[in-house]
Amino acid sequence: TERTLVLIKPDGVARNLIGDILARVERKGLTVAALEMRIAGADVAGEHYAEHAERPFYPALLEFITSGPLVAAVVEGPRAIAAFRQIAGGTDPVEKAVPGTIRGDLALDGQQNLVHGSDSAESAAREIALWFPNLAQS
Ligand code: ATP
Repeated sequence: TERTLVLIKPDGVARNLIGDILARVERKGLTVAALEMRIAGADVAGEHYAEHAERPFYPALLEFITSGPLVAAVVEGPRAIAAFRQIAGGTDPVEKAVPGTIRGDLALDGQQNLVHGSDSAESAAREIALWFPNLAQS
C-alpha cells in the first residue's frame, strides 16, 4: 500500500466541493487516512511549492493557496499516488483533464484547479511530513 498527500485547494472548499471530491477518492477505492482543514501559512505553502519558486506564477500561486481554508489529507491504497493523479486529471482542467476526472468535470482554471496530489513517492513522503508532522510514518 502507498500514501499520497492530497489538498483540496481553497477554490474547492469555497465551492463546497469537499464532499464531492472526497467521495470520488473513496469510490475509487482509496482510503482517507488523515484529514484536516486549515488555512496554510506562507511557510508551509512556500515549502510545499518550493520546486516552483522560480516560475512566474509562483507569487500568485502562493497567494491563492493561502487565501482561505483548504483541506489536507493523507490518502492511502494500492498505487495511491498514481491513482489519485488519475482521478484528479491533468493540471489544465480544459486542455489536459478529461471528463470523468475531478478537474475535467469541475474546474476551468489552470491555477484554481481544485486539488493537489503528490507526483512521486519522494514528493509524497516530503509533503506528508510537511502537512502532517505528527503522523507516524509508514
Ligand atoms: P499539483 O502540484 O497542485 O497537484 P500539478 O502537479 O498538476 O498540480 P504543477 O505543474 O506541479 O501541476 O503545478 C502546481 C500548481 O501550480 C498547479 O496545480 C496550479 O495550481 C499551478 N500552476 C501550474 N502551472 C500554472 C500556470 N501556468 N499558471 C498558473 N498556475 C499554474
